[in-house]
Amino acid sequence: MHELAICQALLSQVEEIAQQNRAVRVTRIDLKIGPLSGVVPVLLQRTFLVARHGTLAEEAVLATEEMPPRVRCQGCGMESVVPTNKLLCPNCGDYHTTLLGGDELILASLELQTEDSSYEPLPASADFVEEHRDV
Ligand SMILES: [Zn+2]
Repeated sequence: MHELAICQALLSQVEEIAQQNRAVRVTRIDLKIGPLSGVVPVLLQRTFLVARHGTLAEEAVLATEEMPPRVRCQGCGMESVVPTNKLLCPNCGDYHTTLLGGDELILASLELQTEDSSYEPLPASADFVEEHRDV
């Protein structure tokens, strides 16, 4: 239950931020997910519907945005967006590349409802699970 553990980590961070901002409810959670993070957005969405019960995010919308993999070539230095299954430099074909993105799982922003019923979009940028880079 990989997705459940991630949802619980996400929800505990979301609740912490909500409490710091004296919110009574979380209305929207925006996540950025790279395909190399090992997280499947559809599964995460499904798990979230269960995991959110009893939290401040019980009625929150979970929005996910997929981030394409990006690499920097160690040979020619070019930075490129590449397919998930082909992390080569498209410029010179070198496979000595450094992963710049695509493995992220980031809480990008939250919408909170405070007691006066105003909605406050809040930029929150933090990784809520450790990034796993194996390049
Ligand atoms: Zn290159």
